Amino acid sequence: MGFKKEPLFNQSVKFIEVIFQKAPIFRYNIFMDKDSKDLLKKQIEDEISSATRQIEALEEKTKPISPDCSLGRLTRLEAMGESHVANKTLDNARLRLTRLKNALQRIDTPSFGICIDCDEPIDINRLKLRPESVRCVACENEQNR
Ligand SMILES: [Zn+2]
Repeated sequence: MGFKKEPLFNQSVKFIEVIFQKAPIFRYNIFMDKDSKDLLKKQIEDEISSATRQIEALEEKTKPISPDCSLGRLTRLEAMGESHVANKTLDNARLRLTRLKNALQRIDTPSFGICIDCDEPIDINRLKLRPESVRCVACENEQNR
């Protein structure tokens, strides 16, 4: 004797984990419990509203400068330069908003928090930092190379 059999419960948990991790259709982020998911959801909603406000402010800034506007020449050039920068920021903000909205739609699906490239769970701290992430750090770096 001396052989200690693992409790049945542990065995079942392991079995379920194996099933979930091996079968792609069942893949989900086992590191994410309901509480962190709820927090993440709240965070995404907050970020969506702040991104929306940011976009509205930027849209105001990037309105075309009318040619008969009574600005001096230099001021006009400055204004155009500023508007160019604001346009870039606006594009990024819009892209981020789209990604955040996608994340909110996906958060209750099993694929949320799973890297689209390697099928591994994305680190929870990365998701807290950038909940719109669809790739793990390694795959994101690979993508940006
Ligand atoms: Zn990955």
